[in-house]
Amino acid sequence: RKRNPGQEEFHEAVQEVASDVLPFIANHKDYQGECLLERLTEPDRVITFRVSWVDDEGNVRANRAWRVQFCNAIGPYKGGMRFDETVTESVLKFLGFEQIFKNSLTGLPMGGAKGGSNFNPKGKSDGEVMRFCQSLMTELHRYIGPDKDVPAGDIGVGAREIGYMFGQYRRLSHSFTGAMTGKGISFGGSVGRKEATGYGVVYFMREILHAVDDDIKGKTAVVSGSGNVALYCIEKLVQLGAKPLTVSDSSGFIYDPDGIDEEKLAFLKDLKEVRRGRIEEYAEKFGCTFKEGRPWGVKADLAFPCATQNELNGDEAKSLIDNGLLALAEGANMPCESKAQHLLRKHVLYAPGKASNAGGVAVSGLEQSQNSQRISWSLEEVDKRLQGIMKDIHGKCIEHGKGKGAGDKTDYVRGANIGGFIKVADALQECGVF
Ligand code: NDP
Repeated sequence: RKRNPGQEEFHEAVQEVASDVLPFIANHKDYQGECLLERLTEPDRVITFRVSWVDDEGNVRANRAWRVQFCNAIGPYKGGMRFDETVTESVLKFLGFEQIFKNSLTGLPMGGAKGGSNFNPKGKSDGEVMRFCQSLMTELHRYIGPDKDVPAGDIGVGAREIGYMFGQYRRLSHSFTGAMTGKGISFGGSVGRKEATGYGVVYFMREILHAVDDDIKGKTAVVSGSGNVALYCIEKLVQLGAKPLTVSDSSGFIYDPDGIDEEKLAFLKDLKEVRRGRIEEYAEKFGCTFKEGRPWGVKADLAFPCATQNELNGDEAKSLIDNGLLALAEGANMPCESKAQHLLRKHVLYAPGKASNAGGVAVSGLEQSQNSQRISWSLEEVDKRLQGIMKDIHGKCIEHGKGKGAGDKTDYVRGANIGGFIKVADALQECGVF
């Protein structure tokens, strides 16, 4: 805390990992004596820079951007870029730190990183977003590359922003390489990337339920968000015969007791991906309830927080548990506040984002593989690999967390923290001290 004053989000993330990894180290001689966790909490480097750009009225504007290159012990740095006014160095350090373990869990050779800017693309014209992205990449291009650091999207960075940034990278580097993922299909993107995080979180939930001899079919689900992760989480739930009851955005949530089906999902995709409208329109169109606030008071078997960090507090977790929740899998990064995490870990099967939302970065890793081989796999091939990866991550959580939770439940948080740590720790030790 003294070393990183005011970085609350980062402290919280480190504390959560340390509470599992430190006791593990204490019981395993092989991992003692090299300050492994302390070394992992210090990023390899943090690059901070100004991004100046010109708005549509001709005014010069200035934002701040960062790239946190946390650890490349097991592969080139990999992690998304986030554009939002809430972005700070602390938020990016928390996300980058988590990314080390998440990327390790996928089994693919990817190090941990994260980046972004306090620029908010909402309400900006395409021209303004393009000029911002080009200006940002004019500085960032020095630090990235297919064997160095491969950024992707995150909140506020979708296909449009990736396209503008990758275009500028191509221009400045005078080459076409897979230096970014989440690219459009026409210029090196992978099929299935858009769907990967949402599908992956549902595949992970399917594994959780199979491990306790249950099935996802027929289960009701409360989902938050209506962005990239939430929409494809809902799509996979519908495909597997579950019944999503809610969807939300920053204005509030809708509760549809009949469940969201394919037709309603098609409306949602048009509303959110094409027209960028508000969620209330769904309630008007399908005659159900819209409420301000968050959806966690709705009774359901399963929960999928897929919007943003700290979107589910202790009281809301209690309400989900009192309503008979079986399991919760995080689609977003750290959506549950620490009190909520504590309660969920104790009372239900609770999968942390670093395990359950790793499908996105896993398919980004597959995009890197396709780019370097100059081939494109089919959607079936990518989906098959994604399902295999989510199953393997679940297996690692079982290996290190089975029977370790309250009431002999699998402790997925412990399983993910230790499962992710071991590979990185082995690599750090074998490469010497630096
Ligand atoms: P999007 O920007 O596509 O969607 C975010 C959604 O969350 C929107 O519906 C947004 O509503 C809503 N939201 C934002 N802030 C709030 C808030 N304060 N209260 C309620 N709702 C809010 O982002 P993604 O779907 O890509 O990402 C969602 C989360 O998943 C993030 O935590 C991200 O880091 C994580 N993640 C994403 C991956 C990916 O592949 N996309 C991979 C792994 C993790 P509105 O439209 O009103 O802003």
